[in-house]
Amino acid sequence: MNRSTNYGKFFRHPLTSLIQNPLLYPVQLYTIDKRLHFKLDREEQKMAHEDCIFCKIIDGDIPSAKVYEDDKVYAFLDISQVTKGHTLVIPKEHTKNIYETPPETAKELFSRIPVIANAIRDAYQPLGINLLNNNEPVAEQSVFHLHVHLIPRYGDGDGYTPNWITHTEDYTSDDLQAVAKAINEQIKH
Ligand code: 5GP
Ligand code: ZN
Repeated sequence: MNRSTNYGKFFRHPLTSLIQNPLLYPVQLYTIDKRLHFKLDREEQKMAHEDCIFCKIIDGDIPSAKVYEDDKVYAFLDISQVTKGHTLVIPKEHTKNIYETPPETAKELFSRIPVIANAIRDAYQPLGINLLNNNEPVAEQSVFHLHVHLIPRYGDGDGYTPNWITHTEDYTSDDLQAVAKAINEQIKH
């Protein structure tokens, strides 16, 4: 039996469909484009992970002052020590920022934060603590591995000055309802 005849019974090469049916051109080109982008995204993620200083800290390739570690989460002192005990809490699994974080990773990360915050309080008796998570450069993210800052507060002039401008007067309650609705409509689980 002719080999190519037998092969053709089970398999139709995608190029054959493409050449024979020009109506499929846009669909096929879209699929190829999507596949190419998916591959590029994965390559970029791999590169990002290799270049990531926080992944290197987790792996012990860059030294850090470790505050806490388990199989999912690592916490260490921020080198800038905005206030004494300023700690960064990070997931061991590399994720760029909050937008790209799977809910399970967020759950694991945030479940450790009260424990670490209480440990900082017991060690240094701050008057309070700020949690801060920056996402994207406009929001001052400078290291692209998700992290939550725990910044103990000791009073005015302790080193941390959040700049918070209120715009209460600019919004009616209808405006607030409209904004809330716009966000709510985009909720995806
Ligand atoms: P972001 O600006 O992205 O919210 O915060 C990144 C934080 O990482 C900064 O506060 C910076 O001080 C800290 N950081 C950057 N490089 C290192 C490092 O090599 N070791 C430690 N411990 N902290 C770092
Ligand atoms: Zn990383």
